[in-house]
Amino acid sequence: MNIKSDLDSFGYFGGQPVFSTVRSISNLVRPDIERFLDYSKLMFDSGIYSGSGSLVRRFETRMAAFHETEHCVAFCGGFWGIVLAIKYLALPGKTEVVMPSLTYRRLGDIVAWTGLTPRFCEVDPSGLCITRETASVCINDNTALILGVHPIVNCCDAEGLEELSAECGVPLLFDAVESVYETVNGRKVGSFGRAECFSMQSSKLFNAFEGGYVTTNDGELAQSLRLMRNHGAGQPGDPETVGMNANPIEVHAAMALAAMDDVERQVVANRRRYRAYQDALGNLQQVRLVAFDENEKCGYKNIVVELLDSWPISREFTLQLLHRENMLCRPYYAPPLHQKQTGYQMLWDDLSLTERLAQRYLLLPCGHFVSEDDVRSVVSFLSSICHHGQALAAYERSKS
Ligand SMILES: *Cc1c(COP(=O)(O)O)cnc(C)c1O
Repeated sequence: MNIKSDLDSFGYFGGQPVFSTVRSISNLVRPDIERFLDYSKLMFDSGIYSGSGSLVRRFETRMAAFHETEHCVAFCGGFWGIVLAIKYLALPGKTEVVMPSLTYRRLGDIVAWTGLTPRFCEVDPSGLCITRETASVCINDNTALILGVHPIVNCCDAEGLEELSAECGVPLLFDAVESVYETVNGRKVGSFGRAECFSMQSSKLFNAFEGGYVTTNDGELAQSLRLMRNHGAGQPGDPETVGMNANPIEVHAAMALAAMDDVERQVVANRRRYRAYQDALGNLQQVRLVAFDENEKCGYKNIVVELLDSWPISREFTLQLLHRENMLCRPYYAPPLHQKQTGYQMLWDDLSLTERLAQRYLLLPCGHFVSEDDVRSVVSFLSSICHHGQALAAYERSKS
């Protein structure tokens, strides 16, 4: 292990950074370029570049099979897929969407675009996710929808949320972006609730540069999403709706198909990195690696650690130190959504657990461009922080 000898050797204090180029937490999967070009040539030959050309259709068929659902509808991005699915599913006349606050930083905005109001629920401290119990106390006469969001390691209790949805008659939609490869009790993520939403933005497990899709077994929902994404156009004679363009494009589908051809290899590489983190972090008692539930299928994409009470410095200072070593680590969903300044209404009661959890977790470098040696270097640096913990803590105190 390569422990920094003194504080002056930390990048933060002017020393040589651990990495000369940035290591990030984004997956940035790079599939075989020849495959991407082969698919792209099909697009050129067909002369159809946007809307539903043959590559988008092929991609949708493939993803429906992958998720074991009847339908898959692709979009220009994950964001708009979720907006339109909420638009379709929300109970008419109701105003609130029950969702976690400790989640993806744009999810409140997504709900605001639909004209509805986020009602934030607590999370479960071990899974870091919405549960049947935390959601149920937020259901009231105004509830339009439950937005179940899978956390970034493992899945939420999708079956429990389905039971709650059935009991209270409120539709259930999943943001399953971070659980694209996973199973819940052996069942593929994709067919839970009324629909599930995914992203293929370049930092996700399946990289299509940009893009997203929704899976569902509800044919009417799929049909409506296809109309909504395409300028809101209906059948001739249908009343006009507010139009928009959320169409997928063929070149994204070409990249997505190339990425899907490569995905098993990516997951194997992700698992190797995860094992390297498990091994290296085994010796560091101040940090806990959030473990994948290997009884289920896992994509092993995200590496999340909890800084335990014995960790010497704050999570914020930790991040500053990491950044100056060229490790672009991120806090695990901080600030939580209810603590952000936004231009729209948000509702919540007590979220003290969310607020506490939002101080403790961070994501470590992972993905295609991070080697197992890199993993060991990251953990060595965390050990360096512990090794110089007293001095770093004193410095942090002196600054505040
Ligand atoms: C990235 C992400 C989205 C949005 O997807 P885009 O394709 O980037 O619009 C939504 N939810 C979660 C949990 C995400 O991580």
